Amino acid sequence: MSDIKQNLLNFREKLAEIEKRYHRSSGSVLLLAVSKNQSVEKISEAVASGQMAFGENYLQEALEKIAFFTEKSLDWHFIGPIQSNKTKKISEFFNWVHSVDNARIAKRLNDQRPLHLPPLNICLEVNISEEKTKSGVNIEDILPLAEYCLTLPRLKLRGLMTIPAQEKTIEAQRAQFHKLKILSESLQQKGFMLDTLSMGMSDDWEAAVAEGATIVRIGTRIFGKRI
Ligand SMILES: *Cc1c(COP(=O)(O)O)cnc(C)c1O
Repeated sequence: MSDIKQNLLNFREKLAEIEKRYHRSSGSVLLLAVSKNQSVEKISEAVASGQMAFGENYLQEALEKIAFFTEKSLDWHFIGPIQSNKTKKISEFFNWVHSVDNARIAKRLNDQRPLHLPPLNICLEVNISEEKTKSGVNIEDILPLAEYCLTLPRLKLRGLMTIPAQEKTIEAQRAQFHKLKILSESLQQKGFMLDTLSMGMSDDWEAAVAEGATIVRIGTRIFGKRI
């Protein structure tokens, strides 16, 4: 069996166990395989093991992979920083964007989403640890941005995403993810129909699942170190 097949089997088994441990319903967490800097050969192995959802950070690299796999109807998620000259292709070739963090980018994605496609699923990226250097909206700015996104008919606001500061203990990790969960609940109380919390990577995904993640974004644990 290939390493990637084995890694996927191991991860899915562990994910089922962690869902159970934290009283999450079985299958409620989507595994997004983060394939940035990974070859099409490796992605093919993951596809052969039943993996359909992939996350990419770099547009040019992603477009080549998307073209390579066109017959497979894979589910492509854009998860990296977005420059405004990239929004057209992103809105054309992806089903999801997790990293929307300002109104100008949201508007461009909306205006450029091709009419033959359904509205683009988006998450707003939140700078939950309030680090100066991080991308993401500040917590206090999330409500106006979420309200603005509702006025854009070609976007479907699904939820929130975060990349928290690295923490060593599961308790400290959970505290960060808990903040995103609370923020999401406060938006839901205001009437936003959100069903997605995109949080958790190779080193902190268990804490994220404990706090309600519905999408975990896993790279190295599936594909090995990036080249
Ligand atoms: C690279 C990346 C991941 C995956 O990171 P791993 O630690 O390799 O699992 C997840 N989310 C985002 C936004 C990334 O850029």
